[in-house]
Amino acid sequence: MLYSRSDNSVALSVDEWVTEAVAAGEVDQRIGPFAHQPPIWIRGSAIGNLPGATATSNISGAVHDGAMYLFLDQLGSRADVQRTLFHELLHCGLRHILSLDQFVAQMLNLYERDASIKAFADEWAASEVGQRAASLHGSECALARGVDETLASLAEPNARKCLKNAPLDRV
Ligand SMILES: [Zn+2]
Repeated sequence: MLYSRSDNSVALSVDEWVTEAVAAGEVDQRIGPFAHQPPIWIRGSAIGNLPGATATSNISGAVHDGAMYLFLDQLGSRADVQRTLFHELLHCGLRHILSLDQFVAQMLNLYERDASIKAFADEWAASEVGQRAASLHGSECALARGVDETLASLAEPNARKCLKNAPLDRV
């Protein structure tokens, strides 16, 4: 399961959520022109919609079973919606064009070649989610996921300044 966590430490109260209409409008505007669109579901919370999601998961978006999800209880602004959309779209794109073996090989290749990606991916792999991925699917797969999370973070608007030598500058 691929998902993005919001910066909110707790779920927003309902009056702080962006409205479903605002979220749906952003989706239309950002991905309307794409030829291949994943199904996108806008829901109030990850709880009950995503296996394993709890009150402390703080998940703002996910790619699960071939669909993309946006969760309003972690989306307090239009910018939050955009950021989550870009993040999840990158996961969707990579999963769409690569087989699982290709995906792992390509991600590990990037891991070996770029010190800033390696650092971010190592951090992700050491996180609670990363550790769980390693115990379920093995450490190579977990590291590949860490690289994927790095790339998805870089795909978010204004994220590039976070890493030097962002790979997206070079491809
Ligand atoms: Zn992600």
